[in-house]
This record gives sequence, C-alpha cells and structure tokens, in this order.
Amino acid sequence: MTMDASVTGRPKTLIGNYGIEVTMDKKKLEAFKKRLETRQQELRRTVTRNQADGRSADEDTAQDIADRAASSYTKEFLFSQSNNERQTLMMVDGALARIREGSFGECISCGKEINAKRLEAVPWTRHCIECQEKLEQGLLEEAPR
Ligand SMILES: [Zn+2]
Repeated sequence: MTMDASVTGRPKTLIGNYGIEVTMDKKKLEAFKKRLETRQQELRRTVTRNQADGRSADEDTAQDIADRAASSYTKEFLFSQSNNERQTLMMVDGALARIREGSFGECISCGKEINAKRLEAVPWTRHCIECQEKLEQGLLEEAPR
C-alpha cells in the first residue's frame, strides 16, 4: 500500500498498525485539561501574591541591620519560591498548549508516549522517564518549551 499524502497526518490521529486507537481518549484529556487549568489559576494567584509580598518587604524600612537582614532573607525566599512557581506555571501553560495542539502526553524529546502513571502524577511533565533521566544526567538538551 502506498502512502497518500492526504492520509499522512499527525501519527497520533491515525489508527495504529494493530487497529488500536492511539489517541488519548477525549474524556481523559478533558480531565487533564481541567486539572491543569485549576493548577494554572492557583499558580497565577500565588505568583502574583508573591510579587506583591516582595514589594511590601522592600518598602519596609528596616530599623537596624538584623531587621534588614531578615527582610532581605524574606525577599530572597519569596523570590526563589515564586521562581519555582513561575517555572511550574510555564510548564502548565506548555501542557495546556500541547492539549490544544494535540500532542499532550507525548515526550517532547523523543515523541514516545509518556507513562500514564507519570502523567497522572505530574500532568505538566514534558518528558518520558527515559528522557527525564537523561536530562537530569545532563545528557539531553532542554527543549525550548
Ligand atoms: Zn522521551
């Protein structure tokens, strides 16, 4: 059988060789989307609140060095915390974009399906376990998104 250009599309929308539907089912995807959207809202709130807290910590004019140190410690703490949250927020945003694009659940590096349990635990994960391990060992370049 010859491959007609009109039937070659994104592989995930095709039925696999064994007649198994390879697309993640809509209901499951919808559930992930809801979870991600909830998380996105929470993170947005936290990030915004931390930014406001950081500002007010800045405005407090410390009376002595100890106070100043405490204030700068608080600022640093809030900063690193909001940095983490900002990063997670970016990943959540990316996952929602992949849901829209229809590539959610695939490793952004090798394109393999991400383990369902892994996805269940961290829906915004972008890599399959193999690539994640490579990434942590510095063997894989972080993709731009
Ligand atoms: Zn992978």
